[in-house]
Amino acid sequence: MTRKQLLISTALIALVALVLILVPDQPKASYYADKGQVFGTYYAIQYESTADLHDSIRAAFAAFDASMSMFNPSSTLSRINAGVDSVADAYFIAMYRTAEDVHLRSGGAFDITVAPLVNLWGFGLKNRAHVEPAQVEQLLPHVGMNKVRLHVTGDGLQVSGYVEKTDPYVQLDAGAIAKGQSCDVIAALLARNGCENYLVDIGGEVVAKGCNAQGNPWRIGITRPVDDATGELSEVQSVLKTTDIALATSGNYRNFYYDGVEKRSHTIDPRTGYPVQHGLLSATVRSSSCMRADALATACMVLGEEGAIKMIEADSVSACYLILAEQVDDSTTMKVVCSSRWKEE
Ligand code: ADP
Ligand code: MG
Repeated sequence: MTRKQLLISTALIALVALVLILVPDQPKASYYADKGQVFGTYYAIQYESTADLHDSIRAAFAAFDASMSMFNPSSTLSRINAGVDSVADAYFIAMYRTAEDVHLRSGGAFDITVAPLVNLWGFGLKNRAHVEPAQVEQLLPHVGMNKVRLHVTGDGLQVSGYVEKTDPYVQLDAGAIAKGQSCDVIAALLARNGCENYLVDIGGEVVAKGCNAQGNPWRIGITRPVDDATGELSEVQSVLKTTDIALATSGNYRNFYYDGVEKRSHTIDPRTGYPVQHGLLSATVRSSSCMRADALATACMVLGEEGAIKMIEADSVSACYLILAEQVDDSTTMKVVCSSRWKEE
């Protein structure tokens, strides 16, 4: 080796060493678990990421709450309900469009204008009190999505809109759809941050993508619908293994009370004004988004077994898993009925 060649090789080695020192190590991705309370329920989020996204997740929750919360008097929804504002933001517009679609698909069984009835029966902003049929009759004329119209201009980030009420007493309740929507919001946040593997569970509504920390499909339990107003019992009826799902469950086994001998559940039939009473204990729905799955699951609870199966079969992107109470002689057992697409995947 000539002196010149030696000099060049030494310079090259020094350059490579310098580059190795100056270029920082690629941050390693690891699995994070974020748990806590939000929207009056729990959340449990697992995701693989190169950075802890806790602050972004909490900020997304706060932004969502400022739009959709019924309990925050300055939220978009509360201001529209109070009649002090009619401007609809992007979350509200997405929620309303899905609510309208599910309203039509369910023949009116799903209806976000059910709020006055939800309050009357003590599941919303008002406390429980004995309900007289006359009170239901008085509120029914103010319930119905045909009494509201959403006007929208633009799309994507430029979308804007306003709500027109043809009846000033109309009040909206997004309780059957917003929890699912918030799962989609967090899933989108994780995807934007480069996450390919995550599980978002907000109060039992779930979006899952990719694999868990062991490299296996996510395991999602469907809760056995045993009456439990404390919400602490959690027996699993069935376990799904999946790498891509948006899933929501509605049931009448946690949010209910007894009025004399009648069980009053938080699912209200907007056509009669009364809490639903039938053998359908819980409805789990898989759909194209968690928001849609959430609304459809509530619609299933209103419709009961036959109507639920009919509605879900007519929707090519959805499937359902229903748990029913079955009376055999003197004892009640549980029966599972699935729509035809449930077993696919
Ligand atoms: P969960 O809160 O257990 O997930 P749901 O998704 O079924 O249950 O939401 C129930 C809530 O939806 C009720 O507490 C009420 O606020 C609202 N709601 C009740 N009945 C209806 C209905 N027919 N259509 C739309 N929303 C409803
Ligand atoms: Mg729901």
